[in-house]
Amino acid sequence: MAGIYIHIPFCKQACHYCDFHFSTSLTYKDDLLNALRQEIHLQKDFLDSETIETIYFGGGTPSLLEGEEINQLINTITDLHGVSSAAEITLEANPDDLDQKKLKELKQTPVNRFSIGIQSFFDDDLTWMNRAHRSNEAESSVKRAQDAGFENITVDLIYGYPLLTDQKWKHNLDKVFNLQVPHISAYSMTVEPRTALASLIKNKKQQPMNEEQSSEQFTQLMEAMQAQGFEHYEISNFCRPGHYSRHNTNYWKGVKYLGIGPSAHSYNGEKRQWNIANNAKYIQAIEKKTIPAEIEILTEENRLNEYIMTSLRTQWGLKLEQLNMIAKGASDSLLKEAEEFLEKGWIVQKDQAIYLTQAGKLYADHIASDLFF
Ligand code: SF4
Repeated sequence: MAGIYIHIPFCKQACHYCDFHFSTSLTYKDDLLNALRQEIHLQKDFLDSETIETIYFGGGTPSLLEGEEINQLINTITDLHGVSSAAEITLEANPDDLDQKKLKELKQTPVNRFSIGIQSFFDDDLTWMNRAHRSNEAESSVKRAQDAGFENITVDLIYGYPLLTDQKWKHNLDKVFNLQVPHISAYSMTVEPRTALASLIKNKKQQPMNEEQSSEQFTQLMEAMQAQGFEHYEISNFCRPGHYSRHNTNYWKGVKYLGIGPSAHSYNGEKRQWNIANNAKYIQAIEKKTIPAEIEILTEENRLNEYIMTSLRTQWGLKLEQLNMIAKGASDSLLKEAEEFLEKGWIVQKDQAIYLTQAGKLYADHIASDLFF
């Protein structure tokens, strides 16, 4: 079992908070699509003939591609790998791209899941974020996709930024519940270095984020989701029972994946590698039949820490036995370090596993990094 991620590094405009790799120029689009197909060939042995269970088009903005371009990429994958007939194939889409014509095209592809970047239902907030869409498009795009027969939809929301009062956050959550989607991801706004948001804050043109506001809105989010019957299966992810993102869940469970495209990451149990985050250099390297990637061979310590970081964030918890499989006896020293958090009621131990409590979810990163080896 394995997954393939394809990075589509183009966007219509740059959201102020975003530090993903993308270009707002489509000049290299055709060359880049050729290079992506070529890289799929070059990397065909990375996953050791594992069956592909999930394919994920991320970015950037994959919904800028035409249906035929998506089909060509999927066909290249199916020519070289065994792809499960029940594979989950997700496409990240921005609301302004999902018009009737695009949906009709996408119906002619094997894409069976959308991840729609709504972020907010307030135009002022979307302008503040420098998003390319308007709030009415956010709502109508989901409805159009549902009418076109796409039921498996997740939407992204953002909280914890200065414009978002608790009342507005409640409004956004109510709106999204009305859309009847089976999966919702919600992220606290973070200020990444070298983004427009970071410079605006540095130059005192924007207020910094407020941690207390973010914690309060995260608590509001968890309570609202629980009241609506959503499972909180990962810190930022909620779903109707059984509607997990299979692709992302596999990341968190340590399943192998191959990342194709500039800036894409790959993992095969022994090493991680990440491609250069530059479209022109990526294309040049692939034309010479080389993979422009840095490689890190994972040490025992790397693998322990990655397992702690990812497993603790999920509802399946950190299994002590799995920790000991990475390094014999590792669970003893972890449990010693964890005493402080057990006493505070931030984690609980049950059936040889450790889980974050509702209170502990507010400190997930802090707890994980304190437990690192
Ligand atoms: S659309 Fe997505 S990838 Fe593109 S700039 Fe905005 S947040 Fe970043």
